[in-house]
Amino acid sequence: MNKFAIKIYGCQMNVYDGDRLRTAMLSRGWQETTEAEADVVCFVTCSIRDKAEQKAISEIGRHERVYKRTGRPMVVILGCMAQRVGQEIAKKFTCVKVVSGPRHLGLVPDALERVIVTGQKEFFLDTDPRELTDLCVCPTAGANPFKSYLTISYGCDRFCSYCIVPYVRGRLQSREPKEILAEARQLVERGVTEITLLGQNVDAFGKDFRDKKYSFAMLLDEVSQIPGLCRLRFATSHPKDFDTDILDVMKRNDKICRAVNLPVQSGNTRILKEMNRGYTREDYLGLVARIKEALPDISLTTDLIVGFPTETEEEFLDSCSLLQEVKFDIVHTAAYSIRPGTRAATMEGQIDEATKNRRLNEINAIQSEIARNANEAYIGQTMEILADGFAPKGRGQIQGRTKTDHVVILDGSEEDFGKLLTVEITGANPWSLEGKIKSKD
Ligand code: SAM
Ligand code: SF4
Repeated sequence: MNKFAIKIYGCQMNVYDGDRLRTAMLSRGWQETTEAEADVVCFVTCSIRDKAEQKAISEIGRHERVYKRTGRPMVVILGCMAQRVGQEIAKKFTCVKVVSGPRHLGLVPDALERVIVTGQKEFFLDTDPRELTDLCVCPTAGANPFKSYLTISYGCDRFCSYCIVPYVRGRLQSREPKEILAEARQLVERGVTEITLLGQNVDAFGKDFRDKKYSFAMLLDEVSQIPGLCRLRFATSHPKDFDTDILDVMKRNDKICRAVNLPVQSGNTRILKEMNRGYTREDYLGLVARIKEALPDISLTTDLIVGFPTETEEEFLDSCSLLQEVKFDIVHTAAYSIRPGTRAATMEGQIDEATKNRRLNEINAIQSEIARNANEAYIGQTMEILADGFAPKGRGQIQGRTKTDHVVILDGSEEDFGKLLTVEITGANPWSLEGKIKSKD
């Protein structure tokens, strides 16, 4: 029996792709194992920052040394980095046998079966950003049996000036609503209780359909009505495309979690313009106010880049003050990373690494304080969580998420996984809450 291992880097879409590939290979009789035992190791890669790429390359280098001695494992590179630099990597490493961009996953299972026999290199890369050969498999062998991601659209047409995504994931292409609903139903039938709908910009869903009559809000409404589904999440929203009809659907249906990831990227209007984000600081704050008014219990999270080319100290401080003003629950911060081929990569006024890192540490300290205070306010409250697995560092403890996407760590057992638990919050830190079970659904 052929053995495979899957290693995921980067975003939730890669987790979804990894889950579908696992499901496909298991159904072909392959066995999943550790990287050390595998005949084929599949890397689902990320290109969003240089660091993510370097990490994957060093891991491939480790397998190359073993491959040269023993003739195994073969390495398959999938995803964004494969599309961006896969050909160069395959030239450098003899162990790399299959290279496929994110829009060609459908060709990968057959290629794995061929390569195990022939050992010949194969490449599936986009020549046209609208090409798509997807793997039409429902990810029923996911890493977590109770939660699943579900990609609703491919690619992105926004071309933010720092971002590699439109170059490696191609143009926006929404999946057919019927297909998405069928997949969601199948997931629920197999025991999934929480689904997260994924797109680089979910709010743009349907804008590429010829009649433009089907919107993201309509999809959200339809998926949320599937019997047996307890919770529905979505990511990522774009402030320019977030329509208030999404709020109307959320208000009507409390299965849809009170959590919106609304990346701001900068708190300064000039930098936002340089980033090609399509909104000002004031537009963003206005949208936040409308969301909070419609859904007062909403949890807002965001993404923010420091050290974008030409960002001055004052402009950086605008990002810090925006965090103080909005008080997000979570902020995913990153130091700007040059991505070759993007507009920002060629801009004058690149910021040195030391300044970027200093700004990153400063803004992280500010957010950490905000999150600690916000989380401490939950102590003593009763919240409902969906228990979904063991806590990573929890000495046998389990974890779950609230509707507002807060992680709660508590004493419990495997029997609680997939269930809704009512918990009392007993402790808090900037990243998570602690709780104890009051009752089970
Ligand atoms: N589509 C989403 C949006 O509109 O923000 C997010 C997509 S991207 C996969 C995830 C995050 O990576 C972005 O929100 C951004 O903060 C970060 N990112 C993208 N390009 C980056 C770069 N060149 N340097 C640092 N961070 C970057
Ligand atoms: Fe990248 Fe901007 Fe598209 Fe998000 S919206 S994926 S940041 S280009």
